[in-house]
Amino acid sequence: MAESKTHTLTRQIIIAMLAGIVLGVLINQIGASPWMQTMIVDGLLHVVGSVFVAALKMMVVPLVFVSLVAGGISLSDIKSLGRIGAKALGLYLATTAIAVTIALMIAGTVGPGQGFDAGQTEAVFKGKEAPPLTQVLIDMVPTNPIAAMAEGNMLQIIVFALLFGVAISMSGSRGKHVLNLFSDLDTVIMHMVEWIMRLAPFGVFALITRTFASQGLDLLLPLAAYFLTLTAALAVQLFVTYPVLLRFLAALNPLVFLRKMRDPATFAFSTASSGATIPVTLRTVQYKMGVRNSVSSFTIPLGATINMDGTAMMQGVATVFIANVYGIDLSMTDFLLVVVTATLASIGTAAIPSVGLVTLTMVLGQVGLPVEGIALIIGVDRLLDMMRTTVNVTGDCAVTCIVAKSEKALDQQVFDDPAAGSVEDATRRDGTPITSAAE
Ligand code: ASP
Repeated sequence: MAESKTHTLTRQIIIAMLAGIVLGVLINQIGASPWMQTMIVDGLLHVVGSVFVAALKMMVVPLVFVSLVAGGISLSDIKSLGRIGAKALGLYLATTAIAVTIALMIAGTVGPGQGFDAGQTEAVFKGKEAPPLTQVLIDMVPTNPIAAMAEGNMLQIIVFALLFGVAISMSGSRGKHVLNLFSDLDTVIMHMVEWIMRLAPFGVFALITRTFASQGLDLLLPLAAYFLTLTAALAVQLFVTYPVLLRFLAALNPLVFLRKMRDPATFAFSTASSGATIPVTLRTVQYKMGVRNSVSSFTIPLGATINMDGTAMMQGVATVFIANVYGIDLSMTDFLLVVVTATLASIGTAAIPSVGLVTLTMVLGQVGLPVEGIALIIGVDRLLDMMRTTVNVTGDCAVTCIVAKSEKALDQQVFDDPAAGSVEDATRRDGTPITSAAE
């Protein structure tokens, strides 16, 4: 079978990422000359990487809004919207609770932090108050939808766009014009996402090289136990939990799923932001995995906002690590509190780099651990952030596929086709090719 352009692109992005890691580590080890630091690392790489992330973020609000309205239109009634919402929410909460339980079990067995000298780090960390759940609920309804879009408030955009979409579908022939407009807009915006995909090898290379050039792997050594415990926990979630759920809840082949996750995974890894990755996540579940817009346009932005399995795992391992460093014993009740708080903490917090550290203050507070303990792990957080964001995004896609399958909104043929998702042959459900202009 002739190799599709998306495959070549995916390969280029992965090569760019690996090359970035190698070059970044080299620069870090050899040490950049002042000229190289200013012109290349903080100049060229910084600009290319930042422009790439900005371009991705530029697409998030228009894409989420338009595709949600289009998705809301194709939902026949409020009942199916409620059903999809309830399934997605239930699965998001369940996967997060499983994630943090696994993390606590692994950390409890390995015991990272025992014998760690807290004097090894001088970083300070100031916690931030997390909003109470009641406020999160109230804040879901935008008082001003334009302001919600300007601020990129995902939950508010979701609420408004869905209501708007459902209203269009209830407006009879008058709604038809608006419906056509939004379906067409959705296609147009996807074209713009395609452009960004084509720039991705450069963007990913710049982001990764710069991160590794400034991070330095020797930072990891004193925290190796914490780092490796969390890495192992994240790997279990990625390669055991999601595959098992996909296989048993949706009868989907997990290997096909993981292979198709490569694009969003590399984007999540290099940007450390599930929010900025939304355009790529949506593109993957719709065009490569065959999920209908009516499900994915809702579950993906929702998941990016409230489902953070990797982040919850970090919070579980970090709690055990900090407790060990300070010589505090955690009881069974504490462990349960960590599961509940870490699960709830992922709701209502932004899908941006390092936000997991902020919500960690909530978890530590619940079990009476010193918030200053966070300062111990800040040094390695960037790299772990990249890894946990990859898990966060994979969790969103897994749940989306499971919900779609149960709603008969997943095209099995597209899912099973390894070449699916090439822009050339991707066709909308109404049969209109989405490409040509992207060529
Ligand atoms: N960076 C993560 C995300 O965007 C959140 C975090 O764990 O800090 O999904």
